[in-house]
Parts: sequence; C-alpha cells; structure tokens
Amino acid sequence: GAERTKNVLILMSDTGGGHRASAEAIRDAFSIEFGDEYRIIVKDVWKEYTGWPLNDMERSYKFMVKHVQLWKVAFHSTSPRWIHSCYLAAIAAYYAKEVEAGLMEYKPDIIISVHPLMQHIPLWVLKWQGLQKKVVFVTVITDLNTCHPTWFHPGVNRCYCPSDAVAKRALLDGLEDSQIRVFGLPIRPSFARAVLSKDELRRELEMDPDLPAVLLMGGGEGMGPVKKTARALGESLYDRELGKPIGQLIVICGRNKALVSTLEADEWKIPVKVLGFQTQMEKWMGSCDCIITKAGPGTIAEALIRGLPIILNDYIPGQEKGNVPYVVDNGAGVFTRSPKETARIVADWFSTKTDELKRMSENALKLAQPEAVFDIVKDIHELAAERGPLANIPYELTSSFTSLI
Ligand code: UDP
Repeated sequence: GAERTKNVLILMSDTGGGHRASAEAIRDAFSIEFGDEYRIIVKDVWKEYTGWPLNDMERSYKFMVKHVQLWKVAFHSTSPRWIHSCYLAAIAAYYAKEVEAGLMEYKPDIIISVHPLMQHIPLWVLKWQGLQKKVVFVTVITDLNTCHPTWFHPGVNRCYCPSDAVAKRALLDGLEDSQIRVFGLPIRPSFARAVLSKDELRRELEMDPDLPAVLLMGGGEGMGPVKKTARALGESLYDRELGKPIGQLIVICGRNKALVSTLEADEWKIPVKVLGFQTQMEKWMGSCDCIITKAGPGTIAEALIRGLPIILNDYIPGQEKGNVPYVVDNGAGVFTRSPKETARIVADWFSTKTDELKRMSENALKLAQPEAVFDIVKDIHELAAERGPLANIPYELTSSFTSLI
C-alpha cells in the first residue's frame, strides 16, 4: 500500500537571505528527489514577532523576568554557554511556545533546523512530549567556518556541517563522529543543476553581449560598501583615453530600497543595471565574470558553483569572519574593504590580468559543492527509513509544555 506522506518541518528565520535560501534549497531538493513522499513546511520563527521587543516593552520585560529564570534552570546543566546571554535566552524562551505549537500543529516526522537558536527548544519539546525516539531531528549549519556554539547540540540525530572546519568544531563541542556529516552548504537546486549559457543569459537579461561583467551585491539586505564601490567601478571601468567602457556593472541591492533609488539617480559612463531583490540569482551570477559581496555564506557558495572569482568587501563580525580565509586561502578571491581598491582590481581583471581572473575561477569551481543539498536530503531520507514505519505519531497533548513556563 502507499506509504503515508511524511511531514518535514524546517525551522528558519528570514533575517538576511541565507537561512531562507537554505530552507528553500532543502525543500526543493526533497521534492525533486522524493516527490510526494514528503510534505515540507517551512516555518519562519522570526517573522511572526517582527518588532518585538520594541513594540511591546512592558510585556516583554515581564516575560523576560519570568522566563529567563526558568530558562536558566532548564539548560544550566546541559549547555552553560547558552546561558551567557540572558537576552538571547529570553528571546529563545519566547519562541518556545511557538515551537511547541508548531510541532503539534504540523505533526512533523522530521524536524530540520537551519537556525543557530533552534536546537535546544525543539529538542526539549520533543523530550518533554516523549517524541524523541520517533521524530528525526537534524541541524543543517549554514555558516562556512566560524559559527556560534548554539548550532551544536549533542541531542540531534545528524549535524550537517558545510566544511571540515565546522565539523571539527562540532567534535570539540561534544558531538559524536556518527552524528556529523560534511556535504557542503545547501544551495537551491535551481543553482546547482542549472545548465546555463552566458550568451543566452545576457540576451535574456538585456546585458551587453561582449563587455566583461561584474556583479556587486551585499546579501539579502544589500549591506556593505555597495554604494561607494558602485561609484568607484563607474570610474575604473571607463577607459578615458579610448572614451569607452571596459566592463559592465550589475548591482543587486536585495531588500535595500534606499540603495536602489540612490544608485538609479546616478549618471553612469558604463552600462549599469541597478536592481532590487532578485529571485533568479543563478541567472545573474551565470551572466557575470566576477562578484563583489560581503562574506555571506550563501552568496559565496553560489558564486563558487558558478566559478566566479570573489572580492569580499565586508563581513558580519562573528559568523562571517571565517568565510574570508575560506575564500582567500583557497585562491578563489581576495579581501579588501576599500571601494577604490576593489574597483582597481576589477579593472585589472578585465584588462591586463585576465589570467588571474581565469585561475581564480578555476579555484572557485574546485571548492564548489553543488550536490550538497541532494546528499543532505538523501541522508535524512535514510535516517527516516531507519526509524521504520512512522505511522501515527501520537501528537495528542496531555499536558502542555508551555503551560508549565
Ligand atoms: N539573494 C537573492 N536575491 C537578492 C539578494 C540575495 O536571492 O536580491 C540571496 C543570495 O542568492 C543568497 C542569499 O540571498 O542565497 C544571501 O545569503 P548570504 O548568506 O550571502 O547573506 P545574508 O543575506 O544571509 O546575510
């Protein structure tokens, strides 16, 4: 007989673009590999509380006082580092209610966390509800190198690490070898499996067919020195002597609307496209010859798949810092914070240093892991199969976890 469709709950957050991109990558790969066998629910754990705590200070304050204490008691023995920031803990406790409700509502057979703060609470809820042995729980880490310790929880069935460096940290943090797999960062299948011709893409995207192209972006939110860099490129990619451009520029500002209007109002001597949030990044990357970006893991992994040499011009302190040596030490790009320097490097790549551009492109392709997302979902599928028939997980609640908080 037909097997029951299994429910997969993906816990993500829409801050930046990276977590959502990973969640969607996993969702799409499940559907490509296994069709209707799985029903995927992507749950944004952050969005539903937009504005909090700023929009409701009094209630939040009471909430924190009430819950931080409980949080401390609950997690003190298992993960003292987690407690270091009371603020984080309070926010996390706030989510506990939501997570439990989500768990019960969607009856997941499998829970996938792509969020650094979403291991402890769901695992706690599962334990509380006696579902630990029935529900598969895995973490997919979306930082390439230096990541926050809250990503690691010894109670998971699997922890998917994008690089050996992250796997090493997981081991140091008490995970077993058997829990860890290193496949790479999950990138949307539309990226990984696309067969694209640069010429066709340029026609479709109405770009100059011949001029080398640089893609300038700053993650989902359009962060980093995008404006200054765009203007510097506007100068460096224009050959004054010949009176013509030596390159073209694509600026993708993500959700940064102010940046779009500012740059649109500028006058340019080279072909420029200024764009807001794009849904087909694989096409833009496929049509360009190099990329300038902050050190976001998603953008880096995607650029590597497309073989784009990378100029990193910024990073978010903490989790993105380690992405810089990952790119630079592997010869796939360079790091500079200076817009002028960036503009000069691109001009060189497009004129006298085309060999360097080519070499970096080859190094980028060597680092690329386009199959990672498929390896991850296949492994999860095997894990779920090991659990045997998962029919009828008893999701009826006798006592509510949250009522005890
Ligand atoms: N992205 C996109 N459209 C845009 C800008 C960004 O789809 O207009 C995607 C980009 O392809 C990448 C993600 O958003 O997958 C950005 O993730 P990253 O980890 O680089 O940075 P974050 O925005 O999370 O800080």
